Amino acid sequence: MEEFIAVARRKGLREVGFADHVPIYWLSPRERDAGLAMSLEELPLYVAEVMELSRKNPDLTVRVGLEVEFIAGFEETVRELLKSYSFDYVLGSVHYLDGWGFDNPALVEEYRNRDIDLLYEMYFNELQRAAKSGLFNVMAHPDLIKKFGYRPRAEVDWLYEETARVFRDAGVCAEVNTAGLRAPVGEIYPAPSLLRAFKRFGVPVTLGSDAHSPVHVGWEYGRALKLIEEAGYREIATFEKGRLKFLSL
Ligand code: FE
Repeated sequence: MEEFIAVARRKGLREVGFADHVPIYWLSPRERDAGLAMSLEELPLYVAEVMELSRKNPDLTVRVGLEVEFIAGFEETVRELLKSYSFDYVLGSVHYLDGWGFDNPALVEEYRNRDIDLLYEMYFNELQRAAKSGLFNVMAHPDLIKKFGYRPRAEVDWLYEETARVFRDAGVCAEVNTAGLRAPVGEIYPAPSLLRAFKRFGVPVTLGSDAHSPVHVGWEYGRALKLIEEAGYREIATFEKGRLKFLSL
């Protein structure tokens, strides 16, 4: 994590947040991918380490966050877990549809067996359900379903509108995440039209690079900021202990 901080500093970021992956599979630990999610035992250590980094870097605002997979049926389990901590922000994300890890490169073949339009509907329905759970401050990489470049054939603007309305009513932000530029789709999450829908409904946006390695910190933020501005935003959201704050662009 010190290396991530070093890169943040080199890139001139003044605020940086960590949002490592919570092990939602802790009810079934064998399913946890140790390369992608910490174990439950590691969670307090992770939080303590970020707090320590924050103390050691007084010139930089360091936030402690968490990315939590939304899996319907686990809401109360997650709520219980989050109660023991005071995170600056919690990202909610959808990586599974009917138990299929649709963003896992090892499982990408499954797209061929699916109706892509139906899949988009399933994904956004699940994302809306996650937003409504009240567990999250920010919905992460809000159109992750496009990761491998499988695009809907049908018109999906209505789905974007509906999602934006649900986000607004649920009081969640949307993350503008540059990791999509490193994925086969080669496009920031969310797509420009989805971002414009968020803007129309007054959904605030945050900025993230989904850094799985220090070199990813602040990845292509110039492009992300341009996209955000083009959608009409003049500020981005950050969080301190769950309280929303705005930074002028
Ligand atoms: Fe994620």
